Amino acid sequence: MSDTSALDTVAREAARRRTFAIIAHPDAGKTTLTEKLLLKGGAIQLAGAVRAKGNARRTRSDWMKIEQDRGISVATSVMTFERDGMVFNLLDTPGHEDFSEDTYRTLTAVDAAVMVLDAAKGIESQTRKLFEVCRLRDIPIVTFVNKMDREARDPFELIDEIQQTLALDAAPVAWPVGRASTFWGTYDILAKRLMPVDATEEGGIPVSGPDDAKIAELVGEERAVQLYEDILLAEAGLAQFDLVKFREGTLTPVYFGSALRDFGVGHLLEGLADFAPPPGDRAADKRAVAAAEEKLTGFVFKVQANMDPNHRDRVAFVRLCSGRLTKGMRLRQVRTGKQVPVNAPLFFFAKERQVAEEAWPGDVVGIANHGTLRIGDTLTEGEDINFRGVPSFAPEILRHVRLGDPMLAKKLRTALDQLAEEGVVQVFRPLDGSPPVVGVVGQLQLDVLKSRLAVEYGVPAGFDETRWQTMRWISSPKGDRAAIEKWATTNRGDTAADHDGEYVALFGSDWRRKRAEEEFPDLRFDAVREQS
Ligand code: GDP
Repeated sequence: MSDTSALDTVAREAARRRTFAIIAHPDAGKTTLTEKLLLKGGAIQLAGAVRAKGNARRTRSDWMKIEQDRGISVATSVMTFERDGMVFNLLDTPGHEDFSEDTYRTLTAVDAAVMVLDAAKGIESQTRKLFEVCRLRDIPIVTFVNKMDREARDPFELIDEIQQTLALDAAPVAWPVGRASTFWGTYDILAKRLMPVDATEEGGIPVSGPDDAKIAELVGEERAVQLYEDILLAEAGLAQFDLVKFREGTLTPVYFGSALRDFGVGHLLEGLADFAPPPGDRAADKRAVAAAEEKLTGFVFKVQANMDPNHRDRVAFVRLCSGRLTKGMRLRQVRTGKQVPVNAPLFFFAKERQVAEEAWPGDVVGIANHGTLRIGDTLTEGEDINFRGVPSFAPEILRHVRLGDPMLAKKLRTALDQLAEEGVVQVFRPLDGSPPVVGVVGQLQLDVLKSRLAVEYGVPAGFDETRWQTMRWISSPKGDRAAIEKWATTNRGDTAADHDGEYVALFGSDWRRKRAEEEFPDLRFDAVREQS
């Protein structure tokens, strides 16, 4: 293949990819929608399997049981499906608020998000939190108002709520015809067509506009009049769809439907294909990388231990940003300069992990390794650049690990190192040699840690409170290493090294943290640390 045609192929493959996540408050219908999306993509055998328990998870260890018992998903999975020549990569985000850090990392790997709302509830607490995470990166958001087959709130009220609570323009692209028990379907505002709930095909019925006399014949006089009045009001008072604003992350197109009844899902998918951005430019430290570049680049946003506790293998989830990945390539891990062989990259379909032949910008591949690859790592074909934006957050819970058997200290150390690499926990080692401190975002994460230590590493352990409440990474904006060292010497008992050897300050109270900021104006105490 000549260089130009190779370049064309990368550009073409990138252009037909849509990599996205679904954000939703628990129960809004994320799982149901995921199933229906996969079905649309022809992955029919998968419908109903998204929740698969029992057999599908038989080999997984006990920590997976925690997630089953609590009905939450700890692991991020990636589902790829094709439709009408487009390739969709759906990255599943854990729904529980304890895992917001994991969620954040997943959202660094997508180009768009679908926000699912329960039509009777509107914006809920978790929707809002996840939205805020998307906003940090200006991720374009498509809204899907779900459960329209049931008693729902007034669409104007819902749209107003999106605008008010999220400070985001909301432009309806579909409009409900009838409500609840008399819900007939939707009217496609952009393409001017009626889309009945019980249609066998998805093309819809073209009309000349909301005033087309045909509408009353199809949906009945009462619903037709309401639709006409609604559309007039919407045109006068609501935002109109605008592709540029959507892609900038300041406007969300709003779809209405019912995932359960498989209504509106095709329309949503069309919207993603037509409007959501393909993989674009991505900022790295030295330059922006364009998706269509011939040379491969990508970054690790997630590391997951092998489900089989007898093997220490991990799978690193790599989001490709440019170029083409093929089996047998050797990639450069920029952080260490090491070569990483990619002998059996894994494509993630919902059920089976399959050996991929090639992958393109926007795709996510799994690379099996023995712990070399870490979250935040950039992989290239040799260039020395680092992608930004896979951060660590200051944990909100700090604990000492209590060992029942002191003989296990060495094993504990290995276990904590490995789990830290996976991003399950953060580990801080105080400079004065006192026992390590683990940091987590939520209580559930501690339960997972405890279970994995016992089951996978044979290290039964408990947790004790520490005298610290918060931690911050110490840095010097002027690059003054001596100032940092001075801090470390004067505050030896309250300074620790993180997994990468970076210094962190441990504070007994927020007041102490503020004091430190005043006393050491040359230092910065950061709650977030970028890993690359
Ligand atoms: P998740 O927690 O966001 O993954 O939500 P699920 O997909 O598990 O859905 C939560 C509940 O709402 C389940 O009982 C679904 O059957 C139900 N549900 C999902 N979508 C719809 C819908 O469009 N209409 C109705 N009536 N129920 C729905």
